[in-house]
Amino acid sequence: MIEKVSSGQDKQNKYKDWFCDYVVRQNRIVAAIFSAKDFRVEYLTDNAEEIIGVPRDSILSDVRNLIKKGVRIDETVPPSDESVRKLSIGQMAQAEILEVQNQITGDISYFRGIISHVDFEDGDKFLLIWTDITEEVKRNRQMEEMIAVAQAANNAKTDFLANMSHDFRTPMNAITNFNLLIAKNSDNPQKVRDYTHKIGLACQNLLSLLNDVLDMSKIESGKADINHEEFALGLLLEEVNSVIAFQAKGKQLDYQVHSGGMQQDIFIGDKKRINEILVNILGNAVKYTPKGGKIDFTISEEKCSSGEYWDLSFSVKDNGIGMSKEFQEKIFDAFTREEKEATSGIQGTGLGMAITKSLVQMMGGTISVESEEGKGSKFLIKLRLQGVHQDEGNYWKNHGIHRILIIDDDMDECNKIETALHDTDVEVFFCTSGYRALRLIEAGADDNRGFDLIFLGMQIRSISCFELAAFIRDKNLKPKPILLLLTDDWEEIAQEAREAGIYDFIQKPFFLSTFKQLMDDIFNRVSTVKEDNKGKALEGMRFLAAEDNDINADILTELMNMDGAIVERAANGKEAVEMFEQADPYHYDMILMDIQMPILNGYQAALAIRKLNKERAKEIPIIAMTANAYADDVQRAIDSGMNAHVAKPIDMNVVENTILSLRENMQST
Ligand code: ADP
Repeated sequence: MIEKVSSGQDKQNKYKDWFCDYVVRQNRIVAAIFSAKDFRVEYLTDNAEEIIGVPRDSILSDVRNLIKKGVRIDETVPPSDESVRKLSIGQMAQAEILEVQNQITGDISYFRGIISHVDFEDGDKFLLIWTDITEEVKRNRQMEEMIAVAQAANNAKTDFLANMSHDFRTPMNAITNFNLLIAKNSDNPQKVRDYTHKIGLACQNLLSLLNDVLDMSKIESGKADINHEEFALGLLLEEVNSVIAFQAKGKQLDYQVHSGGMQQDIFIGDKKRINEILVNILGNAVKYTPKGGKIDFTISEEKCSSGEYWDLSFSVKDNGIGMSKEFQEKIFDAFTREEKEATSGIQGTGLGMAITKSLVQMMGGTISVESEEGKGSKFLIKLRLQGVHQDEGNYWKNHGIHRILIIDDDMDECNKIETALHDTDVEVFFCTSGYRALRLIEAGADDNRGFDLIFLGMQIRSISCFELAAFIRDKNLKPKPILLLLTDDWEEIAQEAREAGIYDFIQKPFFLSTFKQLMDDIFNRVSTVKEDNKGKALEGMRFLAAEDNDINADILTELMNMDGAIVERAANGKEAVEMFEQADPYHYDMILMDIQMPILNGYQAALAIRKLNKERAKEIPIIAMTANAYADDVQRAIDSGMNAHVAKPIDMNVVENTILSLRENMQST
């Protein structure tokens, strides 16, 4: 019996030993039993030397040779000799993470360690157990890194949104304040016209900012497109200048625009992108030039030897804070801003220059920067664009403009205007002195060859431009010339100028396109006054408008009503389908369809209408009206059975033209 029991016990002990050994190896546990008096080790697991890289004998002679190689990296105090000795029987000291470097391989492992005071039969001892937690620590570290990356991305997004919201606020401020000014000056139509014009410009700025954000991802993934369409450089510069002049004025900066030898005005290129580039560079010049500084914007063009292409140069020079040499190396990287005292408090995203450079490169152009800290910066952009010859036809004759007189002390300016009008059928005269001008005007009137339009510069020899204008006005000439002032800043002198008989102003540099637009504007104003009761374009038409946003719906209804149309609103796509289904097939002329709507979106609603078993369900024109203005959105609208697409915010001229051309198509089929 004893034998049996004894052999059973042996077996038990054998399994226990095997099991212990297995657990120790599998879990890379290092264990030792030592005396606290002299730290000599009485038991040590076989794997200690291999894992720690310290000779077994050395550990056996003093357990601290093992511990010494470990570095505690958790926050608890490491168990010192003293603290080990102080552990009373049954007590335990613990280290959460020990970083241990293998003395032979140099590999780093991590252990959770405990030291326990145990009462053995042959006296009390200390038990040390290190359990390998390397994988766990690595996993945790990876997680921490991932969290840090996510956090950084989140912070970048938050910063980005904060910066963007500031940039959005600038034009929003202009809109809000001009709106207030309109309310205050509602009895002054000239001022109201001025302010609405400025609100329009701020709106354009706001829109382009919005597009910036959307475009950034497209540019980064190399998917942005460049348009090749005819555009007038003069009109583009007018848009840019009105935004920048307004900002510069707000900061009391001297903003000067110069141009040299501008003969070509119409080019093929991407007007919106060039505008974006110039507004970015000029906007930065305003931003990084302290109050009272100066900005010079110079545009020049040179014909290439091929004759068809032109090299355009845009230079923007400021005397602002400048940039360090090191920063200039990385100014075109996305999200880079120069952090220094002079830039603190100036909001920005660090995206503008990256977008600008990408756009310039996509157009095959170049951009360079020269800058000196504290002195200022100069950006130079060069673009090669194809010029387009424009046949003026009978534009000027049809508008009754045969003879123009330019009165300005600045001969250069006179020459520039003459050059710009060179290819037209208009006769151009100029003089620098006020009295000579008066004689020319009188002689012209006597000859029955009077001037139809007179440009007055701000600097005229021997007389002020206002006095001269008043003289001309009082002469009651036939034909009565339109007086226009050549100036960059109209607002402050507008009243005096109008009292003197000056009709409007034109900004420098002079471009034919800007001049033509002003003339169209002037003739429109005249015809609006003449035809106050002119027929309304959409008179008698009835529309079903699906729009979930109340404000948008009100604006749309108001604008359509002004054009003589009746609008019935559906607050979502489903309602639109039902309203059309329940109405007489000819009740509505057309459907205006917003895209992002609850219950049924615009695409789904259009598809549902087309599927209805009802007269006109397949033919009634449906126009998508949406803020999604990319080419693929237009395609999606067409794929859903819609006939046309109008981008939001809506431009009533575009809406009107779209409706009228759809109506024409319907009538001709
Ligand atoms: P931000 O939104 O910060 O203006 P940008 O990409 O447009 O971003 O410009 C990047 C950085 O280049 C700016 O933060 C500024 O440090 C520097 N910078 C750009 N233009 C000028 C300038 N005209 N004068 C001085 N520093 C400039």
